[in-house]
Amino acid sequence: MAAIGSIVGSGGLIVMDEDNCMVDIAKFFLKFTVDESCGKCTPCRIGTKRLLELLEKITDGKGTLEDLDKLEELCYYIKANALCGLGQTAPNPVLSTLRYFRDEYVAHVVEKRCPAGVCKHLLRFVVDKDKCIGCGMCMRNCPASAISKTDYIATGHKLPSVEIDPNKCVKCGVCMDNCRFKAISKQ
Ligand code: SF4
Ligand code: SF4
Ligand code: SF4
Repeated sequence: MAAIGSIVGSGGLIVMDEDNCMVDIAKFFLKFTVDESCGKCTPCRIGTKRLLELLEKITDGKGTLEDLDKLEELCYYIKANALCGLGQTAPNPVLSTLRYFRDEYVAHVVEKRCPAGVCKHLLRFVVDKDKCIGCGMCMRNCPASAISKTDYIATGHKLPSVEIDPNKCVKCGVCMDNCRFKAISKQ
């Protein structure tokens, strides 16, 4: 396990699939270590906070390729200089996800896309006009009034349809859950 960058820990095993965002997972574990850090040494007390900020910047869609280098550099610094096991292992989730799922990090910073469809700031809800029948159920349930009917005659579609204003949408997913025709998807 050490060879692949892992430790036994408390003996738990978590199984994940393509619906888990690896950047988000790294953020989850970092939040735990930031909370647990006793604050005695600077690399762990301040370093893990800076790591978390960088991860948040990436999941907010504001990250750059340079941030990935900064992440890695900071991880190795913390591992080498933290006083105890907590700080020395805190960067492991970042390093191992960067090592095995770098393509996901790159999708977040270059394409501004979360391949797993988890990071809210990078999500876009879209209506498939060929599946939509214009029933209006999504529109009635949208808490942000972000959905409106389209002029289907003008757009050349046979059936009425709706469209989502990305500037108003708060990415709650209610519309997708309410569409019985599976006409809304997140990208
Ligand atoms: S590495 Fe250990 S000693 Fe240093 S702040 Fe973190 S928990 Fe405290
Ligand atoms: S609920 Fe589905 S079918 Fe009905 S208007 Fe919305 S997207 Fe179209
Ligand atoms: S995701 Fe939520 S806010 Fe956005 S259009 Fe759908 S229901 Fe409205």
